[in-house]
Amino acid sequence: MNITDELPLGPITELANQTWQLILTHLPRDLTWPVLLLTGLLATGIWLARGGHGAKNAGGRERKTTLLQFLLPKDIYSHMSARVDVALYVFERFLRPLWVAPVLVLLAPATEQTVIATLDTLFEGSPRLISTTPWMVLYSLVTLLIYDAIFYFIHYCEHKIPALWAIHKVHHSAEVLTPLTRYREHFIEGPLYAAGAAMAYGLAGGIFGWLFVDGITQATLFNIGVFALLFGFNGSFRHYHVSFHYPRWLSKWLHSPVMHHVHHSYLPQHWDKNFAAVTSIWDRLFGTLYIPEKDETTPWGLGPETQGHYRTFLQNTLGPFRDWHAMAFGAGQAKKKAED
Ligand SMILES: [Zn+2]
Ligand SMILES: [Zn+2]
Repeated sequence: MNITDELPLGPITELANQTWQLILTHLPRDLTWPVLLLTGLLATGIWLARGGHGAKNAGGRERKTTLLQFLLPKDIYSHMSARVDVALYVFERFLRPLWVAPVLVLLAPATEQTVIATLDTLFEGSPRLISTTPWMVLYSLVTLLIYDAIFYFIHYCEHKIPALWAIHKVHHSAEVLTPLTRYREHFIEGPLYAAGAAMAYGLAGGIFGWLFVDGITQATLFNIGVFALLFGFNGSFRHYHVSFHYPRWLSKWLHSPVMHHVHHSYLPQHWDKNFAAVTSIWDRLFGTLYIPEKDETTPWGLGPETQGHYRTFLQNTLGPFRDWHAMAFGAGQAKKKAED
């Protein structure tokens, strides 16, 4: 037995261990070393293959750079928007424990059990299938498609309904893209997407739970769901300033990371495009798909007219409440004028 195992821990070591655990459990997956390493390796590969081209500057314009500037451009990481990303992320994580348990622990099983009960009534009992690997892959695929459809629907509504756009604007007020921009959202937006994810998992779990007699699990690779891996990677790289294009034929099926650069651009031709998270299927179906040209310029943010109101942490946090107040007050004024 190692003698150090028997030694009691001093209060400072105990506190340091607890703090370290707290930091680790709240570290976004995009900032863990495997994801950072994969991102760095892929970016280096793009830099090599394209002779220094392929990275965008703070204005969303492609330029030729050295490798260090390619991986960590100073104008992007020293930008105020990148600092506000961190502040919004920390604030959102701080509030997360208040809602995450009820949304995930209650909503997903409730949806799942409702689906099972409904199917059981409709079809008078389960077909009691036996699960095999192809079925597990299908379960993963169906979960991904349902998740992507619900993500598309919530995201589409956020862009089209002014009261919801007031919340989502905070994600779009990012003037530069960094891996943390993925988590840049107003604290009200988190529960919205978590509820969507819980319903997607519950729906897919309900369908497959009802079909199979022995219970079914999703197909995994290195203990991570195959499609969760794909989704996780896409989510992190699409908020990175490097243009990662897929061949055009593949972009018609899967969102390439650079397609999300378009979603963050304030140019009119890029508005309300590429809403989905992983696949291009739903955007294609509803006519919102936009596959950019190689290194197309995508200036990020809300545009010169609005950006000034969404620079600081406080402006972004109070933004939705200010907008809602203006909507209610504006509507009241218009109604009063009509009555006069
Ligand atoms: Zn959006
Ligand atoms: Zn985004």
